[in-house]
Amino acid sequence: MIEFKNVSYHYGKGENQISALRDINLVINEGEFVAVLGPNGSGKSTLARHVNGLLKPTCGEVKVDGLSTDDPRAIWEIRQRVGMVFQNPDNQIVASSVKEDVSFGPENLGISTDEIKLRVDSALKTVGMADFSSIDPHMLSGGQRQKVAIAGALAMNTKYIVLDEATSMLDPKGRADIISTIEKLNREYGITILYITHIPDEAVLADRIIILSNGSIAMDGSPRDVFSNLSALSKIGVGAPAARLIAEELLIAGVNLPNTILTVDELVAALC
Ligand code: ADP
Ligand code: MG
Repeated sequence: MIEFKNVSYHYGKGENQISALRDINLVINEGEFVAVLGPNGSGKSTLARHVNGLLKPTCGEVKVDGLSTDDPRAIWEIRQRVGMVFQNPDNQIVASSVKEDVSFGPENLGISTDEIKLRVDSALKTVGMADFSSIDPHMLSGGQRQKVAIAGALAMNTKYIVLDEATSMLDPKGRADIISTIEKLNREYGITILYITHIPDEAVLADRIIILSNGSIAMDGSPRDVFSNLSALSKIGVGAPAARLIAEELLIAGVNLPNTILTVDELVAALC
């Protein structure tokens, strides 16, 4: 379980102080697939960096499985449990072959070479990159490099994966590939996902959406609940999935449709 208790975070001091998180209270349970959606500057990356202790709260506490990120003795354990995947795939490559790159984390755990090999093979298989294990990661597409980064987290036997705008530098195929990979990790392997994005159509795939606005949680609910109130979302500066927006326009034009449509498939089914 990931817990934020009354977490606030300020960058800078005095006159230059910026409140990036304001009294965040949040529980993410094991096995959940949670999307964090919010406009630019709403505090999404700041929140993500708190989960594994890259940032420490100015006030309040963040706990992972009961371990506080404020406890220096716990931080190593927390970082094994929480894998992070960032926006830029290039910044995450540390080795000259895919398998060495994925081995990097587990090698620091002091486990046997045989165990590392098993973990790396299995992680690369899980993300569909087993055929690329000897390739230089720089030769791969952005989407493939992000899958290598995810494999790196899996090889640590991580329970939680936090992805901060991990698809934003990818082409549509790379994006779809990453999304289906993380859906699989959640549904088949029970890995808890915290998926940070500013794209409503990506957030729809989660079981639960947290809307951040100006450092606070503005909404927290199922995609259907969150996207039922388009005017509240638009005040926050968050859009809605394309199918939801089309359905809304049709509704206004007099077509009888439910206000719960989120995907193109649902829209097609309702219209037919
Ligand atoms: P998001 O990821 O939603 O775009 P961030 O967490 O990056 O939001 O930023 C939240 C707020 O904190 C913004 O006002 C941003 O300008 C500010 N901020 C982010 N990083 C820094 C930093 N390193 N120094 C000062 N202010 C920052
Ligand atoms: Mg960000």
